[in-house]
Amino acid sequence: MESIVEKDLLEKLKVNFGYDSFRLEQQTIIENILAKKDTLVIMPTGGGKSICYQLPALFFTGITLVISPLIALMKDQVDSLKANGIPAMFYNSSQSSEDQEKVFNAVADKTIKLLYVAPESLSLLQNILNQSYISCIAIDEAHCISAWGHDFRPSYKQLSFLKKSLPEVPVIALTATADKATQEDILEQLAVPNATKYISSFNRENISLEVRPANERVQQIIRFIQKHPKESGIVYCLSRKATEQLANKLQQNNIDARAYHAGLSFDERAKTQEDFVKDDCQIICATVAFGMGIDKSNVRWVIHYNMPKNIEGYYQEIGRSGRDGLPAKALLFHSYADVIQLRKFIEGTGNKEVQEAKLDRMKQFAEATVCRRKILLSYFGELIEKNCGNCDVCKNPPQFFEGTVIAQKALSAIYRLEGKEAMGTVIDVLRGARNTTILDKNYQELKTYGVGKEVSWKDWQHYIIQLVNQGYCQIAFHLNNALQLTEFSQKVLFKGEKVQLTTPVEIKKEEKRVVTKITKSVTKDGLFERLRALRYRIATEENIAAYLVFNDATLREIEQERPQTDQEFLGISGVGQRKLEVYGGEFMEEIRSFIKEKKKGRKDTTLETFKLYQEGFTIDEIADRRGLKAQTIFSHLSKLYLEGKDISLDKFITPEEINLIANAKKVLKNETALKPYFEFLGEKIPYEQIRIGLTILQKKH
Ligand code: ADP
Ligand code: ZN
Repeated sequence: MESIVEKDLLEKLKVNFGYDSFRLEQQTIIENILAKKDTLVIMPTGGGKSICYQLPALFFTGITLVISPLIALMKDQVDSLKANGIPAMFYNSSQSSEDQEKVFNAVADKTIKLLYVAPESLSLLQNILNQSYISCIAIDEAHCISAWGHDFRPSYKQLSFLKKSLPEVPVIALTATADKATQEDILEQLAVPNATKYISSFNRENISLEVRPANERVQQIIRFIQKHPKESGIVYCLSRKATEQLANKLQQNNIDARAYHAGLSFDERAKTQEDFVKDDCQIICATVAFGMGIDKSNVRWVIHYNMPKNIEGYYQEIGRSGRDGLPAKALLFHSYADVIQLRKFIEGTGNKEVQEAKLDRMKQFAEATVCRRKILLSYFGELIEKNCGNCDVCKNPPQFFEGTVIAQKALSAIYRLEGKEAMGTVIDVLRGARNTTILDKNYQELKTYGVGKEVSWKDWQHYIIQLVNQGYCQIAFHLNNALQLTEFSQKVLFKGEKVQLTTPVEIKKEEKRVVTKITKSVTKDGLFERLRALRYRIATEENIAAYLVFNDATLREIEQERPQTDQEFLGISGVGQRKLEVYGGEFMEEIRSFIKEKKKGRKDTTLETFKLYQEGFTIDEIADRRGLKAQTIFSHLSKLYLEGKDISLDKFITPEEINLIANAKKVLKNETALKPYFEFLGEKIPYEQIRIGLTILQKKH
């Protein structure tokens, strides 16, 4: 053992895992284990914990026993190891006695390097639990041992016997749970009080953070997904019902989404989860029951349809995206209704104060006007010097301005409405809307009616929420959320107090991919999709998850480098010896035929757009690839559509939106300019969508 040097570690890392360098503290952790010292590893989800015990396993003469809480996860890990040419097995009580026999033989013959087992099944392994067989013990998801942690599992409690019966064997415990109480508890319960601790940064800089007001969430989500076609994602909802409703809505819009919650049968859940992992289902609308035990590296985004109860939960959930280190997105919708709902949940529970405080921190995060990552990391006790540059606040720092007049208008409208109306009606009054609520109640007679015409609906909402946050008015949650004045309002209305507000930020149509050091530039053609299709085919044949063949980061690099010899292929990060031998040929073949076809080339500009469209690219991707504006691509598609080409424009718009536009068209007497529509529709439907809607309506005639 003494003779293992850095070079040996790097060589095994490349040959068996295909990687060129260690991440974070992986190397020091591995060295510690190889020196047979007990080790505690705290790393965020996706940080790369597995290699910390999988790589040392290759150097030990005996096997590494891995205690893992979830059977589904075990199978994935074993598949992944096998794909890399590392012999591994798992053992559990649901296996046939034949299969169990095979495991015992493999251990006795030392033909495997790692054995995964659930804690419940450990007692059945007594006869192999001795030092001549076992060289190392890894406890994955170690927080399950602690009642302080959030996933306590009673069967983890008994694990201290391992150290007692195998005192010479190093124990490595791994978890993504940071808090101190849990850490100490883990060491005590495992009887390894002197374990070396490695606590990595919790910063997951490849995940961009964004919070948006929850107006028309479903539409926003549909648009988001339309801009990220084929990308795996999870939408977290608060209730079972919400998961089903949302999944339905998405399906109606031709989006491949399914619901997942604890109320479904075991088989149904297992199937959904498996399909998701294998890229057979793009999107899961889930309660928080989903995700634990999913080890899918290419989840590209996580949306919180509702606000989570606390920051721990939020961080764990968004951590399920971007495990491969490529850019990923976390989008949170913030609404007052959710806060009310969550408060209600808390009412009936035990430690109410703690939970309320946690919810408040969550709310502060959602309403932040400083770098959101700073807030998150400081919650976990980690301070960062610089703003992250990869959250919505950093990208669009709030601009403050003196908004006293705006505040006065809003507050006096609330006053005139006698604190009886919720935000929607207050805004309608300010904007001088002529709808039934207003007219029925004669609100057009009020003094403040129409004084805020020049401010859009969305902006009013943005300002009023700030007035609530600054304490000038409040939401009476028990009176249908009516807005009411507070004492503070007097200062603004009568005592000349100045009010600072922030300018609303436009939700950018699609921010360009953040270029971090990990991002590989994307080449401008359809090779990636072809490689992805090939990966999917191979994975289906082998009955493993697609990302186990190559993860997205590796696929991107293959796309960019276009390797054509074994040597070049091996140079790709994520390609080890076995993967070169098994998959290299087919992938290089695909690249060669792609290059050949490319040479034939073709011109015509709308047809070029059509071709990319048929290959499944999004508007933004096509625009990007062609160096044109998204607007132009839309006009190409509209033209092709009117010519009768097979373009499903309805993918880009919902049936509700078409109806609204059709209605507007009648009222506006077939107006052709877009602006009148935009205004008529309350500025809620973007210009692009209106153009598409009108094209579709034109074709119908
Ligand atoms: P965790 O268990 O901490 O959530 P994993 O062990 O599943 O994370 O690793 C997350 C991803 O990072 C996997 O796709 C893994 O292959 C990849 N990875 C791990 N270590 C490295 C490395 N040194 N270089 C590149 N990728 C790595
Ligand atoms: Zn930031």
